[in-house]
This record gives sequence, C-alpha cells and structure tokens, in this order.
Amino acid sequence: MTHPVRVRFAPSPTGPLHIGGLRTALFNYLFAKKQGGTFVLRIEDTDHKRYVPGAENYISESLSWCNIPADESPLQPGKYGPYRQSERKAIYKQYINTLLENGDAYYAFDTAETLDEFRKDHEAKGGAFIYNHQSRGSLSNSLTLTAEEVKDKIGSGHDFVVRFKAPQGRIIEMNDIIRGKITIDCNTLDDKVLFKSDGMPTYHLANVVDDHLMKITHVIRGEEWLPSMALHVLLYEAFGWDKPEFAHLPLILKPSGKGKLSKRDGDKFGFPVFPLDWQGDERLSQGFKGAGYLPEALINFLGLLGWNPGTEEELFKLNEMISAFDLTSVNKAGARFDIDKLKWFNQQYVAQLSVDSLSSMIIANYPQLKSVEHSQLNKIIRITQERLVFVNDFWKVAGFFFEAPQKFKERALKKTLRADTFDILDQTKAILKSQKVFTPEALQSAIKSWISDQQIGFGAVMQPLRLALVGDLKGPDVFVIMSLLGKDCVCSRIGKFQHAIEAN
Ligand code: GLU
Repeated sequence: MTHPVRVRFAPSPTGPLHIGGLRTALFNYLFAKKQGGTFVLRIEDTDHKRYVPGAENYISESLSWCNIPADESPLQPGKYGPYRQSERKAIYKQYINTLLENGDAYYAFDTAETLDEFRKDHEAKGGAFIYNHQSRGSLSNSLTLTAEEVKDKIGSGHDFVVRFKAPQGRIIEMNDIIRGKITIDCNTLDDKVLFKSDGMPTYHLANVVDDHLMKITHVIRGEEWLPSMALHVLLYEAFGWDKPEFAHLPLILKPSGKGKLSKRDGDKFGFPVFPLDWQGDERLSQGFKGAGYLPEALINFLGLLGWNPGTEEELFKLNEMISAFDLTSVNKAGARFDIDKLKWFNQQYVAQLSVDSLSSMIIANYPQLKSVEHSQLNKIIRITQERLVFVNDFWKVAGFFFEAPQKFKERALKKTLRADTFDILDQTKAILKSQKVFTPEALQSAIKSWISDQQIGFGAVMQPLRLALVGDLKGPDVFVIMSLLGKDCVCSRIGKFQHAIEAN
C-alpha cells in the first residue's frame, strides 16, 4: 500500500532562516504539491542553549512571504501535533525507554573532563577518540557498571546521557533519491547521544521519532545531514519502523564556487542571504524583501539552485515549477549562488507585473507621485518597466519625467557637443513649437523630414535633444518621451540645456 506523501521542513529556531534553509523548504513544498501530498513545518527546538526568540515567527513569515506556507505547523496544527519539539518531551521519554529496554541504547555517565582526557590521550598517540564499540567497554556506562550502580547514579541525580549502541561489524546499504546507493561500515560510527538527563532528546532521537509519528514519507534536507543518515536508518530498524525515503540536497556554494554559502557571507559580499530583514543583537541584516526582490523571483531562482528541468527553460511560476519538479533530477554537486542571476530573475518578474500593481508599488515607494495623473503615470511605467531590475529603480530610470535634469553627465556632454549644437537645438525647438499634434509619430515625422532636408546627421540632432530632456544618453525613445512631457516642458528643457552649453 502506498501512503500519501508527507514531507516536512524541520528547522531549528537558532536564528533567521538562511537561503539554504529556504531552498530546503521550497523543494519539500514542490515535491509535496506535485504528489498531492502534505507539507509540514516542525520546529526542532530541543536545544535551549541555541534557541533564539523570534526565529520561529521569522520562519513562518518567510514561508508566507514566499508563498510556500506549510499545510500543518505550530500555527496551523493537523492531526500529528504538537509541531514544536519542546512540547513533545513526554513522547521522546517513552521512546528512549524502548531503546534502553531492548538494549539498543545505554546510559553513559562519563564526565566531560573524563572524555576530554581520553580525547587528549588518543590525540597524543596520533589517533582520535571515538565513543564506540572499541571504547565503550572501558568507560562509565550501563554496559560496564552493574544494574545496582546504574540505579544509584541515576537516583542520586548524577548527570547522564543515553547513547545509541551502534552495531559492530555490519555494513549497511542505504538509498538516497539524489545520490543513489550509499554504503556505510557501522564500525566507523560513534555511539551518538540520543537523550540527556535534563529530559531532552537530542536532534537524532527527536527527529526520527517525529518523522515516524508524523507519518513522514520522504525526508528531504540539506547535504549536511547526510552523515546522520546511517544512524537514523539504524534507529528506524531498532524501533522496527518502516523508514522514509531520503533525499539530501546539494550545498549552496559561495559566488566563487568555493565553499558553502554561510550566514555571514551576505555581509561580506554585500547581498542578502535571508528572506526578510532580521534584527540581530548588534545590527539589522537586510533581507531579500527589503532589498527589493520579489518573492516570485527569489523562488524561481532558488528552485534552479540544484535542480534543473532538463530543458533550457528558466522562468517558472510556482505552479509551473510544481508540475516540472522532480527530485531525481536534483544534482549532487553544489550549486553556486549567483546574485546577478537573481537580479536577472527579478527584472523578468518586475517586467511581468501588471501596470496597476507596479504603479501601486511605485507610489508606495515614492509618495510624491500620488499627485501625478493616473493615466500619465501608467504610460510612463509602461515604457520604463522593462528597465527596472527593482521596483525602486523607478526614480533612477524615470525620474526625469517628473523633474528636469539638474546636471548633465560630463562624458555625455563631451560626446554630444559640437560647434553647431546650440543652433541645431534652436531649430529643433522651433520645429517642435510649431507642432500642432504632439504624438510620437507626428514628432518623428516632422523631425525626420527636417533632418533629411537639411542633411544634418540624425545623431547631431537626437543626442543633444535626449541629453536636454533626460540628462543622460540613455532612456526610452525620445519621441515617446517628448510626447509624454508635452510641448512646453520639452521646449523649456531645451532652453535650459542651451544655457548649460553656454556656461560650459
Ligand atoms: N533541525 C534540523 C535543522 O535545523 C533538521 C534536519 C532534518 O531535516 O532532518 O536543519
């Protein structure tokens, strides 16, 4: 019988959600939706020391902003709650007892100092200390102490941990959807701590117990958890449970392609690595949202970090990505984070916004535009939209429609000015003044026929004209610009520019 697909994103609330975590959430989401399954958010908050207030909220808000909310979560519990591990303590206690009773786990009482001595001693001899089948027999644990001694120690409040008893002399074969067959020699494993005397499980126990109880069918997570897979598989076996399928996603690499992109790299490279702004202890880290990225662009970009559809296609709306997504075509190799590519995606998505939504976003950024006539603003947006990488590039790209250029770029002036420029501008102004119809077409035909009659170069007329109107040699079609600015404005800007030439 096949079970309905259930996947989970299981972050630890130790700080803001990093771009790697967001990509893990996205791949879980895509896989679940493609299979008609359920996407669960489980908060793994068993480590008090690393708990950061606000992080859980940040995670939920980030998923909502990216439009990939969980179907079941602490805020929207389903049948398998609670969805925060700190609220499931009693459950883990019961399961650690099962392992202890069956001999798959044991109490260990060694102090940190003893273990440290062992470690130093091994290092001095050029080896490494591992708490495993070779060393457990000479350490202080329920395998070496009598039942009475164990009871006394626990009864007297001695600190303890419960360790997994990794099998000896066994090779396990496992399968990863992305990486294929993986073989591990159990002799290389250490006896990982599963439970501590403060009554809290460690990640490994809580994670496996919860995945089982929450009926998770596929564990899709970052490559950094690959080394834990053998232990997890052994735990499923020890409990006698069916194990889920595993898929370990490739790392996201620094822009150089060397090493994993870290939370600190954002500051170093000057781009965000968090979805939303995050107020840390010392400073605020700007998120992608605050930096002007659209969630659709970020999601499209992240979807292609490690996965490719096997075609040249790059633009995927979320629902298109769901249909195209396939875990088996996720790469093993790390994916390089390329901020320029993300900017490209952003530009594509800004270009696709409806003029109405772009116009409200622009007005929200530039309240001074509220007074501009609606249809005029929309026309300006239409002709500049494809030049915007970010919505808040609008002023840089289109500000000249609303205020006359104050200065003219030195290099542009050098390139443009000729001895006859002033006179040419005079004549241009006269032609424009005489125009009854100020549409781009009418203006183009008037100027072009005058240019060909006079045999002046097109550039000798159009470049100074553009510079006078825009302040730069870039921008949309000059005839369109003129018709939007209107006759009076165009003529006055030409006049101002002539003053500037005289002063030059
Ligand atoms: N709590 C782990 C983390 O923070 C979850 C790893 C897993 O998905 O198993 O990434």
